[in-house]
Amino acid sequence: MPLIDITKYPKPAIDGLAAALARGDDWTAAAVSAAKDALVEYLIEVQGSRCAYCKRLIKNEIGLRELDHILPKGALGTSVQRAVSNSQSDRRVTKGYPAFRFEPKNLILTCKRCNHRKGSYDCRKDRSAAAVAYPAAAGDFEWVHPAYHEFADHITLLNEFVYQEVPGSNGAAVIDACRLAGIEALEARARELRLKEIKEVNMLVLELLREDLPDDDIVDSVMHHFPQVLESKIRKAVRGFRDNKIA
Ligand SMILES: [Zn+2]
Repeated sequence: MPLIDITKYPKPAIDGLAAALARGDDWTAAAVSAAKDALVEYLIEVQGSRCAYCKRLIKNEIGLRELDHILPKGALGTSVQRAVSNSQSDRRVTKGYPAFRFEPKNLILTCKRCNHRKGSYDCRKDRSAAAVAYPAAAGDFEWVHPAYHEFADHITLLNEFVYQEVPGSNGAAVIDACRLAGIEALEARARELRLKEIKEVNMLVLELLREDLPDDDIVDSVMHHFPQVLESKIRKAVRGFRDNKIA
């Protein structure tokens, strides 16, 4: 089963996007934001808060989730020849598909990284002729299109952040265009930093406990030095050390 089913989209999103197209709005027009919000809210639920391409969790990364235009909305590059070529190396040159900028089927939730890496990449399989209507079949895309393809038929996730193409599928196009091979190292580094931070928070908590301060003062002090760490986590650490009488 493909990830998205356009017939189940919320009416405010569908109607709002159609109205924006009828008005000739730009993608960033303020009048479209309510429709986009409705669409994002729906996609968060359907996508299980995961990026459509790398499948990492994106729900709580404020400002880090984006609506990707599966077929790019704008033109990039000046070579007409390259813009109609179906060779992989020419696909970042595109005439763009401004007519599909508000097409619900063309919009999907991604992490910022995937959206930026994909950029102007044009995944319509045969670019030699102009697309008058939005491509309606799975075979029209050299991509893992959430309305037409099942992700697992194209990309196998190994060890959470290692992406392997299913032989003979469209997986390689997504893996290459979104540079998914770089994610494993990125996630390993993030994990390393998180562990280092936990260790530093614990050390400070221990030090303050030895000064015999009340819990609230300890929590305040730790929050001051680590504003990004949740108060509940700091309280838990304080309680944990007290219960174990380590201090
Ligand atoms: Zn992603």
